Amino acid sequence: MNQPAAHDPDCIFCKIVAGKIPSRKVYEDQELLAFHDINPWAPVHFLIIPKEHIESMAHAGARHEALLGRMMVLAPRLALEAGCNPGTAGGFRVLVNNGREGGQEVLHLHMHVMAGPRPWKRG
Ligand code: 5GP
Ligand code: ZN
Repeated sequence: MNQPAAHDPDCIFCKIVAGKIPSRKVYEDQELLAFHDINPWAPVHFLIIPKEHIESMAHAGARHEALLGRMMVLAPRLALEAGCNPGTAGGFRVLVNNGREGGQEVLHLHMHVMAGPRPWKRG
């Protein structure tokens, strides 16, 4: 069965997935979307999100294992494409905030990917 991905009509990132809020797209496939953060902390700062509305990692289950794995494998590739410097002297930072006390503001699972020469604004 090919059910449409779950979405929340009040969720900012679901609206970005649906094209109702514009974003600067970095990557898109059937399951995932990546776009530049509107308030970047670093010279490179984009978010990778599942198109399905999953609130946080605490809401992911066994059926999301492959999806979360794909996000991890995609991050370094997209980071390089977006201008991350390669090798040990370069590199990138991955951050996933979960829940309010975990620093999560947008309650749709997302992976921050940050890179570029320091200093950064934050992080
Ligand atoms: P959190 O604190 O939930 O981990 O991070 C949410 C991130 O989403 C923040 O870095 C914030 O700048 C970004 N963000 C919030 N609203 C929008 C938006 O409408 N468009 C884009 N591109 N980024 C957003
Ligand atoms: Zn959502």
